[in-house]
Amino acid sequence: MKIAVLGTGVVGQTVAAKLASLGHDVAIGTRDPEATRARTEPGAFGNPSFADWLGANPTVRVATFADAAADAEMVVNASAGGASLQVLAQVGPEALAGKILVDIANPLDFSAGMPPRLSVCNDDSLGEQIQRAYPDAKVVKTLNTVNANLMVDPRQLADGEHTMFVCGDDAEAKAKVTALLTEQLGWRDVVDLGGIAMARGTEMLLPLWVRVWGATQNPMFSFRLVR
Ligand code: NAP
Repeated sequence: MKIAVLGTGVVGQTVAAKLASLGHDVAIGTRDPEATRARTEPGAFGNPSFADWLGANPTVRVATFADAAADAEMVVNASAGGASLQVLAQVGPEALAGKILVDIANPLDFSAGMPPRLSVCNDDSLGEQIQRAYPDAKVVKTLNTVNANLMVDPRQLADGEHTMFVCGDDAEAKAKVTALLTEQLGWRDVVDLGGIAMARGTEMLLPLWVRVWGATQNPMFSFRLVR
């Protein structure tokens, strides 16, 4: 499948690398491809620089957000939550129409320091804002409740015995994303919460997520639904 991953941070890199390793035709989107390719400073949390990452993943194409998404069959939003609507505006409604848009972003606002606030919550969510802005896209919210390594390799924790949530208004899109999660990424317990408004629930897990991370100093944890 031709997949655009919008975002060059650790999530975009990790998801793009995994999808490319599975044989997908992957483009990674950024504001300025030339500047991004030239990034030699180390990434966050001891990750390699973008230039080193690209050297290790030579089949991934680096493109503007718009070019990456233009001919993609599926688009993954792995951009900073506060910038996601701006990023998608660069792609535009025509390029998103009819496509599955997997939304991994969290609406974290770091402007008042740590821990971050949610810039949207309670009666709305980033997932819904994106779906409202692009009614012809099929937004599926998922993967936002775990760190990047676990997104693409859940077996790194508890032999994969933990839970991933999905939500979205389009049943067929959700089924396709669920198949990607289970058959290609290794998730075993995928819980469908319902329509895209359920993104309020998974995004509002983030205040807990960042506090558990602060308390344990280890991002390798996840939520498991015991039932
Ligand atoms: P990030 O630093 O949150 O986002 C980096 C991406 O956002 C880059 O592609 C950057 O564009 C773009 N961006 C930032 N500000 C922008 C602006 N003003 N206009 C346009 N684009 C802008 O990266 P991340 O840590 O990989 O996280 C990506 C998303 O996944 C976030 O929403 C985060 O909350 C969510 N998430 C992260 C984790 C994790 O483990 N880090 C886990 C779950 C969910 P350029 O490429 O042009 O620099």
